Amino acid sequence: EWIDIISFYNRIIDRFELSKQQNVTFERKLPTHSAFVEIDGDKLTQVIDNIISNALKYSPEGGKITFRLEEKNDIVVIGVSDQGVGIPKNNINKIFERFYRVDKARTRKLGGTGLGLAIAKEMVEAHGGEIWATSKEGKGTTISFSLPYLRTEEDDWE
Ligand code: ATP
Ligand code: MG
Repeated sequence: EWIDIISFYNRIIDRFELSKQQNVTFERKLPTHSAFVEIDGDKLTQVIDNIISNALKYSPEGGKITFRLEEKNDIVVIGVSDQGVGIPKNNINKIFERFYRVDKARTRKLGGTGLGLAIAKEMVEAHGGEIWATSKEGKGTTISFSLPYLRTEEDDWE
């Protein structure tokens, strides 16, 4: 199924923005045209939902979440940045492992099973993309993933 990843991403962000209960600001840095990706929409929703849920879960009161989508040569890179607790450097790659949670005591009360990012990694890699995290403890976290994409038809026919 071919999906315009930009409007798709916007609609997911809209849904979270309308239903959020926290005092967190959303900022979007997305292109306004279209970019098509061949992908299972339900699975893509699951991946983005988990990343945004995590960003909300670990955001402080009054924090900001920034949503980005950048087009490179033949990939799009989607990013979600928060201003939350962050992830210690030595744990940063483990968050994509099944059942891994940074601080069991800290995260127990926030719920979750530690499967979300492992599922996201599987899904992204099955579609030929990559997923990674950058973080500064106490400053915030960015989760990014790439997917191969096709430019819009207008670009192709020019
Ligand atoms: P689930 O997604 O299954 O409900 P979960 O959110 O704990 O549970 P993952 O989404 O896989 O599991 O995330 C794994 C761990 O990575 C989290 O428990 C948390 O410790 C850490 N983590 C993920 N995203 C962030 C973030 N934005 N800021 C800080 N820590 C994060
Ligand atoms: Mg999660």
